[in-house]
Order: sequence, then structure tokens, then C-alpha cells
Amino acid sequence: MDKQQKIQDLIIVGAGPAALSAAIYTSREDIETVLFEKGAIGGLAAVTDWIDNYPGFAKGISGLDLSEALREQAERFGAKIELGEVSKIELQGKIKKLTTSEGDKYAKAVLIATGSFYKQLGIPGETEFFARGVHYCATCDGAFYRDKQLVTIGGGNSAVQESLFLTKFASHIDMLVRGDSLRASEVLQEELGRHSDKVTVHFNTTTDEIVGENGKVIKVIGTDKTTGRKVEYPTDGVFVFIGLFPNTQFLKSSGIELDEFGFINTDERLMTSLPGVFAAGDVRHGATMQIASASGEGATAALMIRYYLKEHDKLEP
Ligand code: NDP
Repeated sequence: MDKQQKIQDLIIVGAGPAALSAAIYTSREDIETVLFEKGAIGGLAAVTDWIDNYPGFAKGISGLDLSEALREQAERFGAKIELGEVSKIELQGKIKKLTTSEGDKYAKAVLIATGSFYKQLGIPGETEFFARGVHYCATCDGAFYRDKQLVTIGGGNSAVQESLFLTKFASHIDMLVRGDSLRASEVLQEELGRHSDKVTVHFNTTTDEIVGENGKVIKVIGTDKTTGRKVEYPTDGVFVFIGLFPNTQFLKSSGIELDEFGFINTDERLMTSLPGVFAAGDVRHGATMQIASASGEGATAALMIRYYLKEHDKLEP
């Protein structure tokens, strides 16, 4: 290690709600905190049009406003946000070395809060109506569709489970499955069968286009693969459930233990398999993919990091 290099108390990878919440706690306690973010401050929350279920905002808040408030609060206590991409985390004794686009960085503790991303269909209309008719999280946005008609896409566990959840709100759901069967578990399929009055499953149906009018989604156009004919489903909204991926590709050579889907395994202190490297929010195995829980995990991680840093100086070099 270059002797001139500064060793930060804490480097946080990411700047979404988990990262910013952790930074509010750590920087307020004079733990020198630097966040590295390669994209938007606020992460997925920042591109969420409206958040109705974040505690403390009785009338709801826009994702952008919430992200901005979290950023301001973290910076008020001294947290520094730097633009840059981290490509590796490794231990050098008790110090953590981060390889980044801005050069090598060193810290006593690291928090990984890089979130996850929803797989997209990549069809016309999907980006245009993102968060304004096209959604990826039923718990987050389902309540906007009380007594409305919906289309859901996918045939795995997420698609079935989330479609079942949406039956609480929607008047009817057309579920488009590109294959000839569901990939979801038997239990979920049986449960879906009990809701056949509300959910109609269309097999062998691809989703080709999401069409809107006057800024609102009005229908989905697909293809019935058995006949080759175009099919149309009038709808007020579309929920895409075709897979969720954690942002952990950059950890491949870091030796941090991941689960079979690539989410980070942590212990009860939210510490990963690398001592002094913690994880919080949507990137963590067991995360509930909610902004409120990501913030909660960020706060918990901050407290655990504080305990760790107290012990750190007593550790062997
Ligand atoms: P999966 O990968 O299991 O399923 C994805 C589904 O989306 C498949 O039906 C797939 O179709 C379909 N799909 C993929 N790409 C497209 C596309 N471009 N157009 C149309 N359809 C597409 O993802 P999930 O998010 O459902 O689940 C991820 C993991 O999490 C799984 O292992 C799952 O078991 C687990 N999980 C478990 C739950 C539980 O146990 N309760 C709940 C939720 C998730 P095809 O089959 O044709 O490839």
C-alpha cells in the first residue's frame, strides 16, 4: 500500500437509501464516510415516480425528493459522495483495498449497498411508461391499481406470487406467459388456481409492445405463438416479473460469499464472509426489496460498523 494513501474509516459502495441511511448514522458519529456511486444518487428509489409507503410521509413523496433529502441529510453530517465505479474489494491485513475507476482506495470498513435491478422486456413503451403504468414491484405500486385492470408478465415464482398479491387490488389480471407452462412452485400454482376468477393465464404469449394514450397505458400487444396471431389486452397498468438481479457482478473476484442467485450472504451483524465488509439493502440475501427496509438495514449496518471499528484498532495489522 502506498504510504501516502489515506485510509478512510468507512467506504460505502452505492448511494441508494441503504447506503445514504448508513452514511447519515456513521458521519453523524464522526466516522469518516465516503460513498462511491457509479450512477444516480438514490438508486432505484430516485427513478421511482411516487412512493406512498415510506414511513413519515403521510401524503407520499416522489422518489427524487426522497433521494435528495437523504443525500442532503448525509452530507450535512459530513459524508462525501464520489462518482466512480468499484471493481474489486480485497483484504490487506485488516485494511480493505478497493480497486476503483478513481484509483485504489483504502478503508477500515466497507459497506456494500449496491442494490439490485429488475430484468426488463426491452420492448416499445416499457421505458416510456416506466413507473407511470409499467412497474416491477407489486408491494411498491400495486395499491395504485385498486379496481383497475392489469397485465402481468412472467411465469416464475415472482410472477405468480406478485400476481396473487395484486388480486387484492385489481379487478382483473391477464397474466402473459411466453412458455407453455408455469415455472412457479406447485404450491403457488395451486393458489393461483384458486384465484382463476380474477387471474386469466395466457400461455405461449409473448409481450411485444406496451401502448399508451394521453400519457397513460391502455393496452398490451402480444403474439399468440400457437397461431402466430397478434393479441391485445386492454389494461390500466403492466407489472413485469421476469427476474431480479443483484448488482454483485463486480464482486466476482473478491471472494465474498454469494447465494445461488448472486445476492450477498451476511451474518446477523450484516457482515459478509470478508471480515469488516458489510452489506445492506436489496443486494443482500433476505432483503425485502422495500425502501423502508433498505433504510432500516442501512441504519443497522452503521451500528454494526461502529462496533467493528471500535475493535478494528485492536486487530493485528
Ligand atoms: P425466474 O427466472 O424464476 O422466472 C422468470 C420468468 O420470466 C420465467 O417464467 C421466464 O420465462 C419469464 N421471462 C424471462 N424473460 C422473459 C421475457 N423477455 N419475456 C417474457 N417472459 C420472460 O425469475 P423470478 O423472479 O420469478 O424468480 C427468481 C428466483 O427467486 C427463482 O429462483 C425463484 O424460485 C425465487 N423466488 C422464490 C419465491 C418463493 O419461493 N416464494 C418468490 C419469488 C422468487 P421462461 O420460463 O420461458 O424462461
